[in-house]
Amino acid sequence: MTTVQPNNAGNGSGAVARLLIVGPQGSGKGTQGVRIGEAFGIPVVSTGDIFRANIKEGTPLGQQVTEITQRGDLVPDELTSEIVRDRLTQDDAAAGFLLDGYPRNAVQVRHLDEFLAAKGEKLDAVILLDVARDESMARLRQRAVDQGRADDTEEAIAYRLDIYERETAPIIAVYGERGIVDTIDGTGELDAITARILSALEARGIVPATV
Ligand code: AMP
Repeated sequence: MTTVQPNNAGNGSGAVARLLIVGPQGSGKGTQGVRIGEAFGIPVVSTGDIFRANIKEGTPLGQQVTEITQRGDLVPDELTSEIVRDRLTQDDAAAGFLLDGYPRNAVQVRHLDEFLAAKGEKLDAVILLDVARDESMARLRQRAVDQGRADDTEEAIAYRLDIYERETAPIIAVYGERGIVDTIDGTGELDAITARILSALEARGIVPATV
């Protein structure tokens, strides 16, 4: 499948690290994901960014997902997983990747497991950015004002947080059973949050090759 990819490839200088960052909308996972991706020299694969880029370019995929994303609903699992598999098969993801926004429910966890297991791979760590719902809502309202994102209406924000709590929060338990979840306090200064994430990964022996 050919999809428009946002330009967020890593710099290729890091070690192999297969990571997932998860948290409610407004937790700052997009911002922190980019920082961690840069630190490790691995591409950040954000399904939300891929969908937004395709909507902006008016590709067939973009047209297919415009209404779904505006409602705050999830794009069908098969389609989303196909896009991610396609992206993770590209050369720059061979040395690792950081997933942001995928997997988002139990079916997508299974799809990712199957894809990685077929290559003898697995996720190394799951970074859970912990931010209270009220704080997420406040940040998302501010982002709607600052960035004018079409999917950031008040209703859509609340709806997406509901979906997160219902469908995405439970997958953390699945990864928790595997012992790979690091829960990180997502409040405070951006640099402090990044440092918390890096030290949690370091405690697992996951360190950027260049440090
Ligand atoms: P995000 O920026 O991650 O909040 O994603 C924006 C929108 O893209 C979501 O509200 C969904 O409509 C869609 N989306 C992103 N990632 C996924 C996913 N893993 N599965 C299904 N839909 C997704």
